[in-house]
Amino acid sequence: MPSKSKAQLLDEIAKLRAELTAVHLTKEERTAELYNSEQRFAMAMRSANDGLWDWDLQTDEVYYSPRWKSMLGYEEHELDHMLSTWEAIVHPDDRVRVLQKAQDYLSGIVTSFEVEMRMRHKDGHYLFIRSRAFQVKCNATDNPHRLIGTHVDITQRKKAEILDKRNAKILEMIAKGNPASEIYDEIALLYEERHPGIRCSMLELEGNKLLHGGAPSLPKEYCEAVHGLENGPNIGSCGTSTYTGKRVLVENIETDPKWANIKHVATPHGMRCCWSEPIKSSSGKVLGAFGMYYNHPALPNDEESSDLTSAARLAGIVMEREHNLKRIRELAYKDELTQLSSRAQFYLTLEKMIKSFDLNSLRFSLLYIDLDNFKNVNDSLGHDVGDRLLKEVAQRLQQACREVDLIARISGDEFCIIVNEVVDNDCAGKVAQRCLQLISEPVEFEGRKLVPSCSIGIAHYPLDGETHQTLLKAADTALYEAKELGKNRYAFYNEELTTKAEYRFKVEQYLREAIEKQQLSLVYQPQVDITSGNIVGVEALSRWYHPLLGQVSPVDFIATAESIGMLPLLTEWVLHTACEQLACWKHSGLTSVRVAVNISPSHFLDKDFVPLIARVLEKTGILPDDLELEVTEGVVQTNQQNLFVFEQLKELGVKLAIDDFGTGYSSVASLKHLNIDVLKIDKYFIDDILTDHKTRLLVNSMIDMGHNLGHKIIAEGVEKHEQLELLQKLGCEIGQGYLFSNPVSADEMSQLLNLSTVV
Ligand code: C2E
Ligand code: MG
Ligand code: MG
Repeated sequence: MPSKSKAQLLDEIAKLRAELTAVHLTKEERTAELYNSEQRFAMAMRSANDGLWDWDLQTDEVYYSPRWKSMLGYEEHELDHMLSTWEAIVHPDDRVRVLQKAQDYLSGIVTSFEVEMRMRHKDGHYLFIRSRAFQVKCNATDNPHRLIGTHVDITQRKKAEILDKRNAKILEMIAKGNPASEIYDEIALLYEERHPGIRCSMLELEGNKLLHGGAPSLPKEYCEAVHGLENGPNIGSCGTSTYTGKRVLVENIETDPKWANIKHVATPHGMRCCWSEPIKSSSGKVLGAFGMYYNHPALPNDEESSDLTSAARLAGIVMEREHNLKRIRELAYKDELTQLSSRAQFYLTLEKMIKSFDLNSLRFSLLYIDLDNFKNVNDSLGHDVGDRLLKEVAQRLQQACREVDLIARISGDEFCIIVNEVVDNDCAGKVAQRCLQLISEPVEFEGRKLVPSCSIGIAHYPLDGETHQTLLKAADTALYEAKELGKNRYAFYNEELTTKAEYRFKVEQYLREAIEKQQLSLVYQPQVDITSGNIVGVEALSRWYHPLLGQVSPVDFIATAESIGMLPLLTEWVLHTACEQLACWKHSGLTSVRVAVNISPSHFLDKDFVPLIARVLEKTGILPDDLELEVTEGVVQTNQQNLFVFEQLKELGVKLAIDDFGTGYSSVASLKHLNIDVLKIDKYFIDDILTDHKTRLLVNSMIDMGHNLGHKIIAEGVEKHEQLELLQKLGCEIGQGYLFSNPVSADEMSQLLNLSTVV
């Protein structure tokens, strides 16, 4: 408190004396009053900034000092000197409490009087007042007959305290993760309470659109009118501030050009000025705007101005949190690559639909989609092209579906569609048909044309599965069936498929012990020189006979071994067995044969693969030149790792053959990148070579091309003499197929080799 000069104090005392004499007093009271005037004087000394009041308890007349009045915005001549004057000014919620406190003090229940209360300023706003008082007793009766007190304006301190408390509450709400709309309302109310008459709003910026965040005191129609507005250089205060990233103060909405186009939505609701502060993230990005409105034209005073800054900061914390949450949700519920629903979103939706399903609901179906040979695309053209294909497929699926259907990417190249509102049995089939059609349209990436295709399994809810697990399993089982039937098609689930799936499961289960229990064996199929008829090589093919399952096809168990991580073990066993067998034949004088072993593409990603080949060669003592590794085109790609493995294998000296040539994506690329020895033209071409002119031309070209590049050609799946004759004419040197021999046991093969010429 500023210290007072002596002259000021004397003046104060003179005023007090005058005040005292102005009140009519009895003789006895004058004595007491003299004493009390000392006290008033002491009080005045303590704080001459305080207002004074003096309440005559008998008459309820109250003397209010000029300072008391000016504190509340009144002139000295205003206000009656009555208790009712105070009663009319004090906040209705505080009145009873304060009077009770005075009563307690006067009756001796408490020994002092000190209260805080809200009192209405002449302007209409409330001030926080602290009042202290002491009683003056009548000497004769010892009863209090007056109460004299001070008023101190503690509004600033109180406001700061409230601000602290409210801020703490808001921060707690943020920390607890309360919904943003609740926090926005709390922030608005905080500043509205600090500045009576003000109304606050928070708008979020999404792209360049303003979205309603919170404005508890603004009319709904106004909020709705603003929601969705595009920001720009002259779009009211908030639209402009989010556009420029700077504070915008509009003193008068009616006349400011920035509001010219949209004032009609604000003025009918009384708003006359609007100040807007951009809400920014910690990195400075504009996230939205905080707006303050009054119903009269105005510019902010210092306090309002600094509150505008802090309000925008506080709202910024919430908005940034919302942005982060949204991003997290997007990551969780949206597939980043394709922008389709994520696996998590798919499961949630499916579960929700099943839970809320009742007799009145329309049925729905589940489509489980898997791209055919996607792995080949990835392996041969690289993951970038693979990703682009997935995006393209996602778009095509969207075209194939209706708004009501949910499309999700489940993993890699697997998609699921919930076909909603199924009215007849054909509904899901029709969607599946559209997917097949759209997906199989050719697509070109960097000049390379692909013709994608997919297989689809369909299951109906609740017929094929009543829980999300069983329904998915049914759709997956149907998908497997579609693949087995030759891919690029769809299949409906039926119960028989479950039996098939159970069989697959058993294969998986028993395969683990197949090597240990010596259930695996190798058969050999001769590769015959077409001109001389001599066997020049044998292809080792795996066989598995299980006591319960019977003979299991290598196509099935090789894929299963791969999926359960058993393939390296199996390949090692095949290589050892085949090379040992060859060593055996070599010992018995059959020097001109070599052995071919099939190698799955996944081995090329295995660091131990090249050392494994080296170990086998060393252990069995066969020459590298006598071992031929057959790989499918899938493995042939520009991928550095695979090229490196090929080079290492070449360094070892083993021969390399491209198996099933012509059926993959990279037939010609394989010839460009790799130093290979043999092309094995797939049975698919040999089958039609006699009947289809085009196929014959193709085989002719493959042979010529292979020869020009210095490769040997093996024709696979030769079954007819006519095929053999034609192949001979076309210059193919080696044939393999049932015409020469089925794959046979090692013993039978030994006999064939001894005969040497088999045709
Ligand atoms: P592949 O390497 O293309 O082997 C040729 C397949 O065609 C063999 O089927 C063989 O029995 C069959 N085949 C040969 N000539 C004829 C013919 O004239 N007519 C007909 N219809 N078929 C003929 P298999 O033994 O069932 O093997 C199928 C596939 O399984 C093989 O195709 C190969 O990719 C894979 N496979 C077999 N054994 C192994 C193995 O030990 N390791 C790996 N990774 N794959 C293997
Ligand atoms: Mg083969
Ligand atoms: Mg083949």
